[in-house]
Amino acid sequence: MTATAPREGQLWSRCAGCATLLYRKRLHRNLDVCPECGTHARLGAPDRLRQLVDPGSFTMLPDRPAEVDPIGFVDVLPYPHRLTAARAGTGLAEAVLCGTATIGRHPCALAVMDFRFLGGSLGSAVGELITRAAERALADRIPLVLVTASGGARMQEGALSLMQMATVSQAVAALREAGLLTVSVLTDPTYGGVAASFATNTDVVIAESGARMGFAGPRVIRQVTGRALPDGFQTADFLLRHGQVDMVVPRRALRSRLTALLAAARAARRPDPAPDVRPSQPAAVDPATASSVSAAGGPAGDAWATVRAARHPGRPTTLDYLESAFDDFVELHGDRLGGDCPAVVGGLARLAGHPVMVIGHQKGHTTAELVARNFGMASPAGHRKALRLMRLAARLGLPVVTLVDTPGADPGVAAEQQGQAAAIAENILALTMLPTPVVAVITGEGGSGGALALAVADRVLMLRHAVYSVISPEGCAAILWPDRGAAPQAARALRLTAPDLCRLGVVDEVVPEPDPAAQDDPEAAGRLLRVALLANLTPLLEVAPATLVRRRRQRFRRFGAAGVRAGAR
Ligand SMILES: [Zn+2]
Repeated sequence: MTATAPREGQLWSRCAGCATLLYRKRLHRNLDVCPECGTHARLGAPDRLRQLVDPGSFTMLPDRPAEVDPIGFVDVLPYPHRLTAARAGTGLAEAVLCGTATIGRHPCALAVMDFRFLGGSLGSAVGELITRAAERALADRIPLVLVTASGGARMQEGALSLMQMATVSQAVAALREAGLLTVSVLTDPTYGGVAASFATNTDVVIAESGARMGFAGPRVIRQVTGRALPDGFQTADFLLRHGQVDMVVPRRALRSRLTALLAAARAARRPDPAPDVRPSQPAAVDPATASSVSAAGGPAGDAWATVRAARHPGRPTTLDYLESAFDDFVELHGDRLGGDCPAVVGGLARLAGHPVMVIGHQKGHTTAELVARNFGMASPAGHRKALRLMRLAARLGLPVVTLVDTPGADPGVAAEQQGQAAAIAENILALTMLPTPVVAVITGEGGSGGALALAVADRVLMLRHAVYSVISPEGCAAILWPDRGAAPQAARALRLTAPDLCRLGVVDEVVPEPDPAAQDDPEAAGRLLRVALLANLTPLLEVAPATLVRRRRQRFRRFGAAGVRAGAR
């Protein structure tokens, strides 16, 4: 037992964070989170289960660990003696508790590790027990939730413990193939072989506040590099910033977050009756009377006026639409490779009750917001986050809705070094193969390849005052006209407005905006978007995946231009 998880019956315990002496019952009532400083004390597996699952719902799996000492390991004590001591100290048979339960009434299989048992180390019994929990999830077709707390592979079992990383990963892979959600909850600490396998190769990775996760521990890294480590190294917030985890969640919110994720996955597998295309409560703005005429400071249909409307700082952003047109958004972060791009947001949401994956560019309304979001210009990490979410949607059978609003992909030096071109290319390729419905909406600026990286879709919609173009009018003017002042002429020449692109077949439908434009009534704009999305998405839900992909490819094939010479065949 550590100083922060005192023995049964002990009345007081000292917080490891602020050293305050806390009344044990008060600490326990607060989920073992210090009420003074917020430090999350470590939890044993039984306490963790009590906090996470619905009361009385946990059923332990029948499997018991085999007695193992595969290499006859002895340090100062023989390995079997250490096992016996760990069992006596924790009341557990091994460093993990596995079973089935419900969380928020959604069934799942769980494997919860216990750091008190030989540092939560991964040995062949732990690996086997977690694998059986995964197999149970597969057999019952329910999600798998893993709660990790481990120093890594168990040294006392030599290379056999290393093999467990592969064993459990295979079980996770089988769940992926079956389209069943896997979630890991990283708790403090999660290191080594556990971090480098099932703690991070699940669909959604949640870090509990205060958790640290890494492959090598800080002591090893300091020894190897001879350098001091940056502040907050390997902490949950560090992991979020570097694209390694989807979210950091305080202990008191873990249960509700898991409930939301399980709800989304369950709904995706057992769809509700098809949502009504016509909302029961008609939008306050009647699409028929909503402006189809630009009143954003220019004559009707003037392309330059539309460019300025599309860039208006008051125009609703993706996060605004997630509030107004969707429900229950759970944001997922990071590309798992090193970054979390703020210019792209995405996650699970509901559209009139139907679960969807929403991915969009995020700008902002103020200068500070715009700077923080890099003006909606995605980095390679942003494109890779989008790709990760598209693939997750495909595995779970969720339709994808993309909201496009970007001046273009990030044109910086770092973006080039990190493979911007290839990142965009990979997204376009992935979208042409995605076996789930995709509806893209150009909501503001559809700038070039950065826009297309989210806009290869079964249906491409465009807001009335949005623009979609191969180059900005200013850029075009600078190249083809004598001066940049020719941007308005370039805007007209580029045919970048929604009606123009509809005529060209690039866009399937124009989404009306409230009068005079979306920025003047963002709530109404959200309602109109919702109506258009439902009308376009609902018929796609009935289409077989192979047909979807074939039609999508045909849709984009039709833009090819080649005559056939007379007489040629
Ligand atoms: Zn404290």
